[in-house]
Amino acid sequence: MTRLAAALLSMLGSLSLLVPAVPATLAPVAYADDPRWEFYTSDHHAYRSPWFRGAHRIMIGFGCNASPWYDHDPRCPGTQGFHHGIDVAMDCGTPIHAGLAGRVLSPSAPGAPGPAYGVHPFRLRVRADGRTLDIVIGHARKVFVKPGQRVRVGQRIALASDSGAPDGCHLHFEVRPKGGGYTTAIRPRRWLQLTRQASD
Ligand SMILES: [Zn+2]
Repeated sequence: MTRLAAALLSMLGSLSLLVPAVPATLAPVAYADDPRWEFYTSDHHAYRSPWFRGAHRIMIGFGCNASPWYDHDPRCPGTQGFHHGIDVAMDCGTPIHAGLAGRVLSPSAPGAPGPAYGVHPFRLRVRADGRTLDIVIGHARKVFVKPGQRVRVGQRIALASDSGAPDGCHLHFEVRPKGGGYTTAIRPRRWLQLTRQASD
């Protein structure tokens, strides 16, 4: 054995000591913890969805919640505010896909999402369950589709980011009746099509 090979081998040996022997079942879910994430839900499961790559946790659900990001809403108890979508925590750059076929709306069409949704929020008008709905994708920084463009299921449409989001990179997924503003948002979970990841 050459001296170099011996040195490499001993280096590898000491490296392997640094790798903790974690049983596979205890291995963390494959996302890095963004220190800005704060989870306002008791649901610790990771979910898959046709709308994004990988399996991720819900950070803030639809409706009343105790997070500090929303003004108090009279519908909610105490000082709680109302969240009009579902926030799914995911690393910056996680691909967002179209989970339903649709058409990208013009930013100037009625109901345009404001700056709280980031610099490039956009809406997909879809036909689902006999209804015409506008799906708002919030906090994306990189968007791969243009107003008027038709998108197919599975098409990569954006990358998740923290644009307009003080609580780290995530997807804000919101569903409204056609042309509605944020106050018309409806419970979006059905169209997010979440599948709970088996936790062994
Ligand atoms: Zn949100």
